[in-house]
Amino acid sequence: MTRHTKIVATLGPASNNPEVLEKMIRAGVDVVRLNFSHGSADDHVARATMVRDAAKRVGRPVGILADLQGPKIRVGKFAAGLVVLENGARFVLDANCTLGDIERAGLDYKDLPKDVRNGDVLLLDDGRIVLDVERVTGAEIQTVVRHGGELSNNKGINRQGGGLSAPALTAKDMEDIKTAASIGVDYVAISFPKSAADMYMARQLMRAAGGKALTIAKIERVEAVAALDEILDASDGVMVARGDLAVEVGDAAVPALQKKMIRMARERNKLAITATQMMESMIVSPVPTRAEVSDVANAVLDGTDAVMLSAETASGKYPVHTVEAMARVCLEAEKSHEVTLDREFLDRIFTRIDQSIAMAAIWTAHHLKVKAIAALTESGSTALWMSRLNCGVPIYALTPAAEAQTKMCLYRDVYPLLMKQMHTDRDELLFDAERLLIEAGVVEKGDLIVLTIGEPIGTPGGTNTLKIVRVGEHTPPAA
Ligand code: PEP
Repeated sequence: MTRHTKIVATLGPASNNPEVLEKMIRAGVDVVRLNFSHGSADDHVARATMVRDAAKRVGRPVGILADLQGPKIRVGKFAAGLVVLENGARFVLDANCTLGDIERAGLDYKDLPKDVRNGDVLLLDDGRIVLDVERVTGAEIQTVVRHGGELSNNKGINRQGGGLSAPALTAKDMEDIKTAASIGVDYVAISFPKSAADMYMARQLMRAAGGKALTIAKIERVEAVAALDEILDASDGVMVARGDLAVEVGDAAVPALQKKMIRMARERNKLAITATQMMESMIVSPVPTRAEVSDVANAVLDGTDAVMLSAETASGKYPVHTVEAMARVCLEAEKSHEVTLDREFLDRIFTRIDQSIAMAAIWTAHHLKVKAIAALTESGSTALWMSRLNCGVPIYALTPAAEAQTKMCLYRDVYPLLMKQMHTDRDELLFDAERLLIEAGVVEKGDLIVLTIGEPIGTPGGTNTLKIVRVGEHTPPAA
């Protein structure tokens, strides 16, 4: 059975070896996330090579996502490695402190005291520790511990309600964009963007470094939620980064925001990834909880392009099992995903010729009940448009460009297949396309398919033709 929703898995100590990675890809990983918060440029280059080698061995395309660290605002290190904060105790966040103790902690973002006011609530370690700000004096933020607990080195700090001024792209991110470009990653995720300007800048830096990666905005700040429309305009997709987002907006607000972000992304022909704690218990358990199964299934029903695994595959005990479980849950949820094409189609506005052909193709495919859509595409854009509406027919994107193939690994409902060559002769090309689909086992002689193509052949963005084809009726071109 073909799974429509894609799986992104994060590489880490638990999966950073060729055998485990290969098993994870066989189990269903479509995109591997390189977390740039950990490791050197050389590490990332080596990991990308390992991913590509494993994908080759398995015989499936796998995309690579570089996830930039961003301005994670963190406490410094403690002399003892960690402290245990008691409820009601006083605790100081001090920009000048170099080694923390039970009374104070250093800050790696030195301007934090300038952003914070009396009465603010600071959430540490993804909200596990809550501090009420009493007073800010110079470099010191004086707080009272509302919810205490264990606080260890380098834990993150968020302000409830957002409003921290740290820029989205740090100097490290700018260097990392160069590394990501040299690797030729398919997507780059920007952490903590606040506005469209952050995303435009990331894209510009990526292009200046010679990279073609699609840009994904991680929505994890209050400001980003408010600026979602303009951020979507400036990006190729969004990640519902539920970890930090929940801390800033409050956990209860996240489910509705997830639905809204996925809907908005699809309406604007953009991608959506749903991330964080999807199979969290599988870090230590071989089976997911009922709640996790429901969470993954709900993201599928929301229409997400991909569901993402973080610590589950990076440092968990069961990376392969987790991917298998996630794939199984996606497949089952997809069975009950309603085809809403007829309702949503009327709201679509399209003015481009290639986009009009894409829309006509899914409409025709849905109503004629064809076996497959075959989109012959150079850049992948036809397949993206087709996949933004759920027409219930699988979309096979046939491309001669390896980089377009791996980009499309993230697109829901799209199965990218590599054509050895794009013949300029139409008959030869159509014959090859049919043969590729038959060899892939997705159609057989006599099946009806809808095919889109650009003529003259070989012009990116030039899709202008729709054909309804009965497989096998094409005569092989004369030798
Ligand atoms: C998140 O906060 O949900 C997230 C995906 O970000 P990070 O890269 O910090 O895990």
